[in-house]
Parts: sequence; C-alpha cells; structure tokens
Amino acid sequence: MADILIIGGGVAGLSAGIYAQLCGHSAAIYEAHGVAGGNLTGWQRGDYHVDNCIHWLTGTNPATKTYEMWEELGVLGGVEVFTPESLYTCRLDGQSLSLYSDINKFEAEMLSLSSLDEKEIRSLFGAVRLLQSAMGIAGDKQDKGLSAKDILKLPLLARYYGLSAKQLSMRFSHPLLRSFICAFWGDEFGALAMLSVFANFCGGNGGLPRGGSKAAADRMTARFLSLGGRLYLGKRAEKIELSGGRATSVSFSDGTRTEADYIIVTADPAVVFGKILDLPMPKAFLRQYESTRAVRFSSFQCAISCRAGSLPFGGDCIFDTDGGERVIVREFSHEPSFAPTGEIMLQTMTFCSERAAKSSIRLRRLNRAEYDEKKQKLGLSQICALEKEFPQLKGCFKLIDVWTPATYRRFVGSEIGSYMSFTFPARALPRKLDGHVSGAENLLLATQWQQSPGGLPIAAERGRQAILEICKKEHAYGRMPLALEV
Ligand SMILES: Cc1cc2nc3c(=O)[nH]c(=O)nc-3n(C[C@H](O)[C@H](O)[C@H](O)COP(=O)(O)OP(=O)(O)OC[C@H]3O[C@@H](n4cnc5c(N)ncnc54)[C@H](O)[C@@H]3O)c2cc1C
Repeated sequence: MADILIIGGGVAGLSAGIYAQLCGHSAAIYEAHGVAGGNLTGWQRGDYHVDNCIHWLTGTNPATKTYEMWEELGVLGGVEVFTPESLYTCRLDGQSLSLYSDINKFEAEMLSLSSLDEKEIRSLFGAVRLLQSAMGIAGDKQDKGLSAKDILKLPLLARYYGLSAKQLSMRFSHPLLRSFICAFWGDEFGALAMLSVFANFCGGNGGLPRGGSKAAADRMTARFLSLGGRLYLGKRAEKIELSGGRATSVSFSDGTRTEADYIIVTADPAVVFGKILDLPMPKAFLRQYESTRAVRFSSFQCAISCRAGSLPFGGDCIFDTDGGERVIVREFSHEPSFAPTGEIMLQTMTFCSERAAKSSIRLRRLNRAEYDEKKQKLGLSQICALEKEFPQLKGCFKLIDVWTPATYRRFVGSEIGSYMSFTFPARALPRKLDGHVSGAENLLLATQWQQSPGGLPIAAERGRQAILEICKKEHAYGRMPLALEV
C-alpha cells in the first residue's frame, strides 16, 4: 500500500483519490480552496444558484467506458440524467438553427434551411453517424476501439481532418450554417473535434446530471471520503521538496509539511514548474504553452435571472451583438430550484483571449474599484444585449453575479484563469502528454493540461491513469475497479 499525496481537489484530484482508495492505497487530497471540486462547482447568491460548469457531460451513454468511470467516481450514482432537446441554438438575422439531440431532426432542420447545401449536409451527417458507430454509441452499440489514426483511415472522416471550423463553414453557402459551425467553439477549433461533439450529443452521450455541477462535485467528494480518503481544505501547496531525484514532501502555506511515497500534482503546470516545483517544465508541455496554434482562453460570465413563464429557446443560445461580440446564453429551466418560483436562471458567457484574460487579472490586482466597475458595466451590457435579441422579454432580467478570468485565477489557481486546456487545433490528433517528470521519479502530473481540449472526462481519466502508473510501479493492484483493469 502506497501513501499518496494529491495536490488539488478538482475532478482530476478527486478521481486520483477515489481510484487510489479503490486500489488499496492511502490517499490524502490537499486543496487550496475551502471546498473540493475545482471548476466543477457552483455557488449561491441569495435565493439564486449559479452553476459554473457542466454544459454537457461526455459519458452519459451507458454503452461507453466513460459512463463506467463516472459510475465508479460517484458522479452519476442515483441521479437522473437530463438530455436537453437541443445543445445550442444559433441565431442570425431572425433565423435560428439548433443542434438537436435527435440526429434526424437535426439533419432535417439543416436541409430545410438550405437545399443548396444538401451535398455538404449529407456528407457531414454521414461522418457524424460513422463516428457514433465507431464510438459504440449508435448502431450495434459496440465500441470498435478505433484509435484516432484508425479513424482517419475512414475516407468519410478523413475529409474533415486538417480543417478548422472556419474552413469547414466555408463549404456551406447559407450564412446561418456558416455561423452555426463556428458558433460554440470559435473559428480555429478542429472540424473533426466539433463533429465528435455532434456525435456524442446526438448519441445520448452528453447529458446533464440533475442537480448541476456542485452536486456532482459533492457526490465525488462523498465517494472519496466514504472510501476512507482524507481531504484537507484550505491547504495551498507552496513547495515540493526534492532529494535524490525524488519528491519527498510538500510544504503548505499554513507552515505545515507532509511526506508521502508518491505525489500527484493536478494544478495547471504553468503555476507548478519553476514555482512550487524547482524543475523545468517538460519540453512537450513547454511546446504547447508556447504554441500559437494550441491556445489558452478564458471567459467573462454573468448570472441573470429572468422573470418569464417560458423562454424562446432551450439549452444554450448563441447570437452576435451589434458590436460583433458573440454571446452564449444558457438557460436553466430544467433546474427550477436554481431560482425562486416564476424566475429562470440564465448565464451569459463571452470567450476571451489569453491577453484579455491577463489584463483582467492585472486590473483586479492593481485597481479593484475599476475592476468592480467594469464587472457591473459588463453585467448591464449583457442585459441590454438580451433585451435587444429578445424584445418580448424586456424588463424581465435582473443581474445576479458577474465573474471573470480573475475569478478563476483566484478560485482554481490556473495561470490565466483558464478552465479548459489548450484549444484543439485543426491539424492535431488527440495527444496525451506524459505525466512523468524527470528529476522526481515518484511525482506524477494528473491534469487536463495533458490533453486538448481538457474537460471533465479528460481530467478524471488523467487522475485514473496516474493511479494506474503507481499500481504498476508497486506491483500491487489491490481491489482493481472495473474501469481500472490493466
Ligand atoms: C464555465 C465552464 C464550463 C465548463 N463546461 C464543461 C462542460 O460542459 N463539459 C466538460 O467536460 N467540462 C467543462 N468545463 C471544464 C471542466 O470544469 C474542467 O475541465 C475540469 O473541471 C478540470 O478539472 P481539473 O481537476 O483538471 O482542474 P481544476 O478544476 O482546475 O482543479 C484543480 C484544483 O487544484 C487546486 N489547486 C491549484 N493549485 C493548488 C495548490 N498549489 N495547492 C493546493 N491546491 C491547488 C485548485 O484550487 C483546484 O481545486 C467547464 C468549465 C467551466 C469553468
């Protein structure tokens, strides 16, 4: 049995902790914040609940391996999974198009919008259906276990490799189709990665566990504790001590120090190497952080309540303001407890570049009053944008909260306040960066930054893999959970 110290109690840390306990090791998670969950969280503002995270959870289809992992981690245990009728709706010049969970309805909607684009639409849905059957979420429901390279040998899919969302959109003539393709992920996102989101959502593999993000994190935390894991909150790791090529102990901001056989680090590598760990960042990571193709991003967000019986859209709705800013507005009518009776919680999100994220973090540090004023202005501008887009709802909106990249910087400690890892560029295959660090043989990274574009399944999987590595080193598998079979 190994003594494992985990820095960070987000999804990666909780997953590592749960699998460590399941395998008979002894795990202790040290979380800087006052609550576990990291980005998988939510918070109360008076009578309103703000849900920070899940727009869709890949792995809600029981035919998938990821579903099995979520079950083992307690994320899905005993809760209903809600699949919205549509993941997002894109609006342009009075017309709209939705990504429906029903693939036939989705295809028919696209065809009725633009018969001129029929050939491209049919090809796109052929590729989506093929991806679904390769993943085992449609057809015979058999996961073919195909690698990314195998998938690219299929001609129907190969024609999308190397294309960005923007380049794919240019194959369509209808302006709304063009806009729809780039709407959620931006112009540079890989077209194949986008098709896989379509495939997952239309394959019942992108639902929402009832109760929202914070409840899901609480279930993971409860699972970890019920297995005998130890969770220490308010414990910020400040230094990882090294000796003889091993990590020997961790010092915390409260002046305490703890030793362990293995140390797993789940924080953003940009705040680890050369900072809490006196070792250079491994070259593969450095290349990613310095790349101009795989970029980091964050966003500005507002929680707004809406006094209305019903809304003219479901799921997420995407539109551009007169100033050319893209707004993603999410509605929570499926979670009535998030707002008082008669109101619906909404959240708006506008993505921002690394530069804008850094400048928001700097502004909060240097001029708090100006930062707060900007937040208030942002909230009001989002209400104006909503009223312009939905004139029938004028006077129904109330600002509840505003948060920025600086919020994420403080809350989860990522360098630029990012909450996913690098964007998924067009010319890239899903690549997993090694979690080993030369100079510290018993230290492992388990973080979403090991694989683009990050997200909950990748974070959880990295935690699981770190424990698998430790089990291999220890030659002691204990009670091997199903999803951890070697
Ligand atoms: C608005 C939003 C929407 C999202 N939507 C989705 C979605 O729909 N689907 C999806 O799959 N994913 C989504 N994500 C992404 C998902 O939340 C993240 O990918 C995932 O939570 C990352 O988990 P993690 O454990 O790798 O990192 P984090 O969540 O960043 O956790 C790291 C933890 O380490 C702690 N920590 C950092 N430094 C230290 C230190 N020195 N000492 C101790 N503790 C430390 C932090 O406090 C934090 O708790 C969304 C995120 C956001 C914010």
